[in-house]
Amino acid sequence: MVQYVLRRCVSMYEDAKKEVLDICLQMVKENLVIGSSGNVSIRLGNHVVITASSIHYTEMNSDDMVVLDMNGNVIEGTKNPSTETKMHLELYNTRKDAKAVVHTHSLYATAMAVLNEPLPPIIDEVVPKLGSEIRVSKYAVPGTKELAKNVAAAMEDRSAAFIGNHGAVCIGKTLKEALHLALVLERTSEIYLIAKQSGTPHLLPEDAVQDEQDVWEMMRGF
Ligand SMILES: [Zn+2]
Repeated sequence: MVQYVLRRCVSMYEDAKKEVLDICLQMVKENLVIGSSGNVSIRLGNHVVITASSIHYTEMNSDDMVVLDMNGNVIEGTKNPSTETKMHLELYNTRKDAKAVVHTHSLYATAMAVLNEPLPPIIDEVVPKLGSEIRVSKYAVPGTKELAKNVAAAMEDRSAAFIGNHGAVCIGKTLKEALHLALVLERTSEIYLIAKQSGTPHLLPEDAVQDEQDVWEMMRGF
């Protein structure tokens, strides 16, 4: 009887919660976030496993993750879900290809968000991963439905967006992919900003960008 009760208490999302925590710790290691900034989630069917709000990642346990339905109702968890829950749900609800969301406050990507300047297509290998020009979402107060809507609009036909005066967000088919894209975005933003300081960046030819955007669409299953 005791064993039966114990088994019932184990969440079916245990592995997903651990994977979310692992990605959070990698974000810290890669210098994409500090403290409890940014947030991570994964979609499993009609539920989302998301990081809790305001807990430093290095002090976070997998039990701190919160399971939500697609309307934001808490299914499992005792902590408050991420303050950017509305943004995560908006991305899942508007993008069928989104299975994981990684939101960072990384240095160079956030510098782009502060400049309020899109990242043009400058490197061949990047466009098939992120899509063409990466937009900056119109400013809105963090945690609001307005921010969620603005970010989803900036994300159209892309795997990444800058969040105006705030940070960056990437969507992927897996958590690992979303984290990788966050690193690609950060590195490309750094390259662009270095190039701008050194001269005038030369953009990719338009026909190459179109071909690479077609590859992006194919890879996303559109
Ligand atoms: Zn944030």
